[in-house]
Amino acid sequence: MKLPEPLKGHLATILVTAIAGLIVFFATKIYHDISAPLLAHVVPAISNATLLSACLLLLLLVILFAAWVIYLHRIHKQPTPSQLWEKFHDRFGDFDAELGLWRHKSKKGYFCPNCKVKGIESQMRETATHISCLVKDCLYWVQKPQPELALANTSLEGQQTKPSLRPGIEIVPPPKD
Ligand SMILES: [Zn+2]
Repeated sequence: MKLPEPLKGHLATILVTAIAGLIVFFATKIYHDISAPLLAHVVPAISNATLLSACLLLLLLVILFAAWVIYLHRIHKQPTPSQLWEKFHDRFGDFDAELGLWRHKSKKGYFCPNCKVKGIESQMRETATHISCLVKDCLYWVQKPQPELALANTSLEGQQTKPSLRPGIEIVPPPKD
């Protein structure tokens, strides 16, 4: 059975608390039952060296228990995949709707949307006519808007038409300038 992530974390905390509570409960009970005869007969019979060893062992157990609790706490605090994805997405700035490319908050240029979906931060190469992804398995590219082309279209058809933008995944890289 697979438990949901938040429940898993809580389960660990509940288990630790329950075990610690049980240990304290039984330790108190045992202490009350045997303290009187122990003080009267057993303690004087134990050598100092044995007592010291027992104390050291107890100290070691306490340290191990504390380390375990810290370890469980750290596991609980590890970011979930959705938090990691959010952190990744946070690095990017605005999405250029016209080009269909991402901007970065701290880096210049454009970033590949095809690679971003796969969790890859790919800064694209910009030439005079094209913007292309350099990732080998991607090669996504877009044509840059050509102002002179838009003007030509306006004069020919008498109305403003957008320059053709044909984004796509091409096996053949865009023409070199
Ligand atoms: Zn890409």
